[in-house]
Amino acid sequence: MTSVRPESSAVPVPTAQDEVVGICQDLLRIDTSNFGDGSGPGERAAAEHVMALLHEVGLEPELFESAPGRASVVVRLEGADPTRPALVLHGHLDVVPAQASDWSVDPFAGEERDGLLWGRGAVDMKDMDAMILAVVRQMVREGRKPARDVVVAFFADEEAGGTYGARYAVDHRPELFEGATEAISEVGGFSVEVGGRRAYLLQTAEKGIAWLRLVADGRAGHGSQVNHDNAVTRLAEAVARIGTHHWPYTLTPTVDALLRGVADLTGLRYDAEDPRSIDALVAALGPASRFVGATVRHTSNPTQLAAGYKANVIPGRAEATIDARLLPGHEEDGFERLRELAGEHVRIEAIHRDIALEVPFTGDLVDSMVDALVAEDPEATVLPYTLSGGTDNKSLARLGITGYGFAPLRLPGDLDFSGMFHGVDERVPVDSLRFGVRVLDRLLRTC
Ligand SMILES: [Zn+2]
Repeated sequence: MTSVRPESSAVPVPTAQDEVVGICQDLLRIDTSNFGDGSGPGERAAAEHVMALLHEVGLEPELFESAPGRASVVVRLEGADPTRPALVLHGHLDVVPAQASDWSVDPFAGEERDGLLWGRGAVDMKDMDAMILAVVRQMVREGRKPARDVVVAFFADEEAGGTYGARYAVDHRPELFEGATEAISEVGGFSVEVGGRRAYLLQTAEKGIAWLRLVADGRAGHGSQVNHDNAVTRLAEAVARIGTHHWPYTLTPTVDALLRGVADLTGLRYDAEDPRSIDALVAALGPASRFVGATVRHTSNPTQLAAGYKANVIPGRAEATIDARLLPGHEEDGFERLRELAGEHVRIEAIHRDIALEVPFTGDLVDSMVDALVAEDPEATVLPYTLSGGTDNKSLARLGITGYGFAPLRLPGDLDFSGMFHGVDERVPVDSLRFGVRVLDRLLRTC
């Protein structure tokens, strides 16, 4: 038997699932390392590449620069119901630097190996950038509209706090986000294995950031003399008190909901008053426990020290830097404690502060995200969690926009995904990217 295929001269139009891997690969090959001091290559080349991908399907995106080379891209898609508040769907184009000698592959080659895409940004967050681009291109090509207006944004500079990206856009171009009330971006939506079951962590909260300078002043003098007013000694005592402080467990509503969910999945006991119960539940999250373990309390890590210029001279001043991450709703208590720990002879100055965020794990958008995941993975359990770091959602919050971390990826249970954020050998399964575009497409149709 032979079958005759109908002749067709039309070139088949690629779908999001066809395109997403290639788009991600191309983005990984554009080095957008952000060293935090302006010395990197910038995001301009990646932004122009994104512009071309959006232009190609007939969209009219806008590229703007906050400084030479520091480019972001924004485009608005009209929704089926444009009277509803808009949703911001955003990613960042920069990546943290990569030391090539630490990697098993060239971090900027976008290599596909054993069903995974490797490269700096494969996890944080060119994977999601590619998923967004692929889904938007397919929607526009097919003449489909998202349920409501969607502002699609690709920001510069997230890895250095967003000053030249999201923060700049919010301060200088707020009209781009007009009518938007909610946002979706990175560091959430990926699966982890809990008690042999697949759970997706949806990010509904972020800790606040407080980079603090400790300054101790004392009496300068000769290193051979008695000096009880030594700035280095005072600073060292304060640094040791802060660095070794055991912050008590403080469970925010998000963490409480997460631990309850983990208890349900594992059968472990949950007692919010019992630190051992909390420890056991956090440990049940496997590699993701490193993320979650930092969200059951404040943290305060000394990271830099500076004092003196000669072995036999006591300096008049000594300084240290503390990276403190404070829980949403408890930031002032945290500061108060840090001031006590610093002591009367050491003052605290803020180097960089940013707000903590927390929103309920309820509402129509949360329901839509959960439904989209469950539709593609019927075995999925979705749990809220708190990010111990920050994202561009902090900047968008200044416009009253509620942000979530939802870059949906169904991952193999043995892949330590959360450990690859800013780590070596970042890699993402290509099947996970295809899963992600299916979920995102469904979400945009129903959100
Ligand atoms: Zn990121």
